[in-house]
Amino acid sequence: MNEYKGIWAFSEDHSLLLEILGKGREIADKLETEVTAIVLGHNVKEKAEEAATYGADKVYLIDNPLLESFQSERYLSALTSLTFRYKPETFLIGSTKDGKALAARLATRLNTGCITDCIQLELTDEKKLVAKKIVYGGKGIATILWQVKPQIATIPLRTFTKLEFREKKGQIIQLDVELEEPKTRRLTVRPLEVSRIRVEEAEIIVSCGRGFEKKEDLALAEELAKVLNAQVGCSRPLAEDRKWFTEWIGLSGHKVKPKLYIALGISGVIQHVAGIRDSKVIVAINKDENAPIFEIADYAIVGDIHEIVPALIKAFQKCLQK
Ligand SMILES: Cc1cc2nc3c(=O)[nH]c(=O)nc-3n(C[C@H](O)[C@H](O)[C@H](O)COP(=O)(O)OP(=O)(O)OC[C@H]3O[C@@H](n4cnc5c(N)ncnc54)[C@H](O)[C@@H]3O)c2cc1C
Repeated sequence: MNEYKGIWAFSEDHSLLLEILGKGREIADKLETEVTAIVLGHNVKEKAEEAATYGADKVYLIDNPLLESFQSERYLSALTSLTFRYKPETFLIGSTKDGKALAARLATRLNTGCITDCIQLELTDEKKLVAKKIVYGGKGIATILWQVKPQIATIPLRTFTKLEFREKKGQIIQLDVELEEPKTRRLTVRPLEVSRIRVEEAEIIVSCGRGFEKKEDLALAEELAKVLNAQVGCSRPLAEDRKWFTEWIGLSGHKVKPKLYIALGISGVIQHVAGIRDSKVIVAINKDENAPIFEIADYAIVGDIHEIVPALIKAFQKCLQK
């Protein structure tokens, strides 16, 4: 007999938790099983209430001052003891940096399999869960099946959508578990000075590449972003090599899914494209007509960013004045 039952969802990022619950609900309905949200933190009753109206049949809530900010050993010990106690068949965890580390460590403790950064989850004809994920730097999509339970998967932000608000409300169950003492201690937390964003959430992104030779030229991108109410992003060399930004977009950076992605002076090699391929519309401006970015761009503008961007700013400003 299968002792593992139900779909669980957890993320320390609440909006991601609600998205995961949406997918969890869909799978659970097909399997005729329950969805449980795990909410950890301090003074997080409201979050538990919300999870209970966005798809969860049940919410296990652990409200403890020790869980106020994310601390891996404490969160891991809470999830481990809940999983051992209640045995979910599938555990979906938000693919944040902390979430991925947590999922991998949880899988190790439970001696089970963990599939990270799933872009799709579906059921086979035999009702077995399979996950799809991008592999080989975006060149392929692997379909993977778990061999053991619980099945742990991590889900990136904006992969699935949150359900509509439901009148039907799940049950909230407050629990207490023993938390492990952390092996590290956080001394300070300082907000990043350069990066202002959660670029994954932006609807419009103006992204800069090595086509920008001088830092002061970034003002062009900033101005275009301002007109479009967009977020500024960049390719990896602008962050890692030139240190003009602290984060970048791509395979090893943020995966984005905006309605509009404008690539300025970005060549579009596979590692960058892996992070932008889910954008709805891609506009690329590059002076090299053979730049690979044009292969995935919906609109290609061959030209110099120093000429095209000011012209675009002017044109958009004119449109907005009408
Ligand atoms: C393991 C690994 C992981 C990586 N992960 C990432 C990642 O997550 N994200 C990422 O971005 N990169 C990543 N990279 C780096 C990646 O391979 C490329 O080096 C990088 O994406 C190139 O950035 P770019 O397009 O800005 O620069 P370039 O490739 O140098 O392209 C600059 C482009 O600008 C154009 N240009 C130049 N001047 C102008 C102008 N005046 N007007 C218009 N166009 C102009 C050029 O024609 C060129 O196409 C990774 C690499 C490795 C090895």
